[in-house]
Amino acid sequence: MTHAEMDELYELYALGVLEAELGAEIDKHLEEKCSYCVEHVRKAFELLATLPEVTEAVQPPAGLRRRLLASVSTTPKRRSNWVFAVAGLSAAAAGLLIFSLWSATQASRTREQLNAVSQDRDRLRAATADLNQSQQEATRLRNDLAALTTERDQLRSAAANLGKTQAETVQLREQLAALTKERDELRVAVEKSRNDAARFSNQLASLTTERDQLRASATRSEQEAAALREESATIRSDETQFHAAVEILSRPRTRNIGFGKLESIPHGHVFLNPEGLVLIGAQAPTLPSDRTFELWLMPVQGAPEPVGLFRPAASGQFVFTSARAIDTSQIKAIAVSIEPRQGSSAPTTKPILIVPLG
Ligand SMILES: [Zn+2]
Repeated sequence: MTHAEMDELYELYALGVLEAELGAEIDKHLEEKCSYCVEHVRKAFELLATLPEVTEAVQPPAGLRRRLLASVSTTPKRRSNWVFAVAGLSAAAAGLLIFSLWSATQASRTREQLNAVSQDRDRLRAATADLNQSQQEATRLRNDLAALTTERDQLRSAAANLGKTQAETVQLREQLAALTKERDELRVAVEKSRNDAARFSNQLASLTTERDQLRASATRSEQEAAALREESATIRSDETQFHAAVEILSRPRTRNIGFGKLESIPHGHVFLNPEGLVLIGAQAPTLPSDRTFELWLMPVQGAPEPVGLFRPAASGQFVFTSARAIDTSQIKAIAVSIEPRQGSSAPTTKPILIVPLG
C-alpha cells in the first residue's frame, strides 16, 4: 500500500474505525518511524482535537478498545529501542485521545441529533399547538358566525314582523277611526231615535189615554142610550098596557079581585073579564137580571096556561095587561112564578103569588 493510498485512511485511523489489516499497516509504518505517516497521523489527531469536547461517556465499539490495548501491549517487544518505546507510549496516548475524541464526537453527534429531534419535536409541538389553536379559533369563529347568522335571521324576521305590525297598526288605526266615527254617528242617531221614541211614546200614551177616555165615554153613552131606549120602550109598553087596562077596566062585566092584605107582602088587584085581564100591584120581590115573572091561568082541569111575562119597576110596583079571550068559568085562579128570562111553557118554580077567582 502506497502513501498516496494511505492518505484517505489517517483520519479513520485516528478515529479508530479503520479495518484491522489497514490499521496494522499504518502501525507498522509508525513502528518503522516513517516520517510521512507520523506527520499525517499527527495532523489527523490535530484535526480531531478541534472537534468539541464532551462530558458524557459513550461506549466505543469493542474492537477499538481491544485494538488500543493490543497496541499498548505490543510496545514492550521493541523496548530495546526507546524510540519504539516513545512511539508505543504515543500510540497509547493517541489511543486514549482517539477514544476520548470518538466519545466526544459520538456524544456530540447524538446530542446534535437529540437537539435536532428536540427542535423538531418543539417545532412540531408549536405547530400542533398552532394548529389546535387555529382549529379552536376556527371552531369559535364558526360558532360566532352561526350565532351571528341566527341573530341576523331573527332580526330580519323581527324587522319583517315589525313592518307587518306597523302596516297592521296603520290599518287598525284607520279601521278604529272609521268605527269611532260610525259609532258617534250611531250614537247621535240612537239619541235622536231615543228622543223620537220618547216623544212618540208620550204621544202614544196621551193618545191611548184619550182613546180609553173616549171609549169609556162611548160605553157610557151607549149604556145611557140603551138605558134610555129601554126606558122609552118601557114607557111605551106601559102606555099600551095602560090603554089596554083602561079599555078592560071600563067594561061592565069586569070583576075586581084584591090580593095581599099586608103592605109588607105583594098586594094589589086583578081585573078580569072575557076579553082580558089586568094585574096591578106593589111590593114585588126583587128579580135577578136573568129572571122574569110569568103569569099563569090555572084551569079547573088541566095544566097551567102561560099568559105573559113582566118585570116590576124599581119601586116594586108592577102592571100586567093581557087582551086574550078568557073562559072565566073554567079558570079557578091566576098565579105568578119566577122563570128564566125567555119564559117557560110550564112553571119551573113554586109560584110567589096565587090569586083565587072563586
Ligand atoms: Zn509511512
